[in-house]
Amino acid sequence: MIRFQDLSIKLKLISVQLFTTLFILAFFVGIYLYSQYRQFETTASHRMETLCEILGSNSISALLFFDNDAAVDVLESLDTQPDILNAVVYDHDGQLFARFDRKNHEDYDWGSVISEGMFAGDDDFVLTKRIIFDGLKVGWIAVRLDSSNRRVAIIDAVSQSLLLFIAGLILAGLLSVRAQKPISDSILTLANTAKKVHDTGDYALRVEGNKSKDEIGELVDSFNEMLEKILHHEKHLEDLVAARTVELEDAKTRAEESDHLKSAFLASMSHELRTPLNSIIGFTGILLQGMAGPLTDEQSKQLGMVKGSASHLLELINDVLDISKIESGRLEVHGEPFKVDLLLVMAVSSLRPFAEKKGLVLKHEIEPDLPHLNSDKRRLEQVLINLINNAIKFTDKGSIHVKCYRQGDSLMIDVTDTGIGISEKNLKTIFETFRQIDTGLDRVKEGSGLGLAISKKLSELLGGTIYVTSQVGVGSTFSVVLPINLEKQADED
Ligand code: ADP
Repeated sequence: MIRFQDLSIKLKLISVQLFTTLFILAFFVGIYLYSQYRQFETTASHRMETLCEILGSNSISALLFFDNDAAVDVLESLDTQPDILNAVVYDHDGQLFARFDRKNHEDYDWGSVISEGMFAGDDDFVLTKRIIFDGLKVGWIAVRLDSSNRRVAIIDAVSQSLLLFIAGLILAGLLSVRAQKPISDSILTLANTAKKVHDTGDYALRVEGNKSKDEIGELVDSFNEMLEKILHHEKHLEDLVAARTVELEDAKTRAEESDHLKSAFLASMSHELRTPLNSIIGFTGILLQGMAGPLTDEQSKQLGMVKGSASHLLELINDVLDISKIESGRLEVHGEPFKVDLLLVMAVSSLRPFAEKKGLVLKHEIEPDLPHLNSDKRRLEQVLINLINNAIKFTDKGSIHVKCYRQGDSLMIDVTDTGIGISEKNLKTIFETFRQIDTGLDRVKEGSGLGLAISKKLSELLGGTIYVTSQVGVGSTFSVVLPINLEKQADED
């Protein structure tokens, strides 16, 4: 059902005007009909009063001299009044004295109770009055008037009123259609402009044509002013954005310059630091091998420490360089097909001496017939060495198990250790840069806190990821997931 509040403003105004007119018309028609009804009754009552007065005074002598015939003669004069149906005169004891009955109305029963006043029946009025002579009641007179034409008169009045009512409504409808136009047109123009502004975002639009000084005029003026302000703000905002863009571009240029400087610094650091470090490592190696002459045990020990520290420093520099390249998006990976089992065996073999030095078993298990992997061999090796290195570093007894297998379209490499494990809380942060867990018991193990961050970023660059499951005191499993690009391999085969 359509609710009033959902109607358009135009229909609302028309219906309000129509309903108001309807109520006003109904009210006045009601009053008119009632007054018609009352008027009929009043006119009839006045006439009957007058007739009773005349007939009563004419009947006095007949009553005083008990002359019934004279009284009947008086009543017979009513013959000239066609709507008087019956009339009667009673003596002062209430006994019938004389009566007049129009033809076809002879059987009217006056009843026995006589009381003064006017009585309205369905089709007649009866008026009874005392006949007074010299202050004394000498008898009664009653007249009965035919009021059947009253109904006809009222029906006439009703039908006339109905016609007037309908004509009034039609007129009101037509008038309200015209009268609401100036109001609804202004509101519609305002609503249409608001919708257009909303749809197009064009704040230069204005509500035109309304020059009225009423509330709608005020609304239109305020709306136009509001649009003006928004337009102004928009312009201001655009200018501001343009200014900020220039500032941002400046800042970007400066950032790029400083990034360039940073890269240049890192490149030079890489060269300046790595070259002497490699020399230190190389020459201490030569010395340690006794190629420059025999060394005492103490000298060998000290030189071993120099070599260890230099290697660690070199690793740290390499990690810092890697992470800065990754974070600036300048590290590129180069895909090439290779056999992953070979890479794995080499990585495990190169680290086995370190595991054995700690009394750990480092074993590997590779699923046969693994497909070639199309990836960056050097970077994958870096990830694996880092994971196995960590496993050795954080395991004091037991074993490290490297397992490689296929799972759907992915190649999985799990590095499982029986080491110290990682708590739930620390699992969330270990892949962040420079994160090292303080175990509280042990001193922090040697490392940069960058290995896992680099490994994760590299795995992602290779299209895969790394995740870890671990239990404190039981051990950890780091799993590398890499995509096997079968389509590419089919092309290459
Ligand atoms: P780090 O150079 O210190 O090894 P990583 O990023 O490789 O840095 O590792 C971050 C931290 O994660 C380590 O300091 C260590 O606390 C924890 N962690 C990494 N691998 C293991 C592991 N296999 N077992 C227990 N803890 C580990």
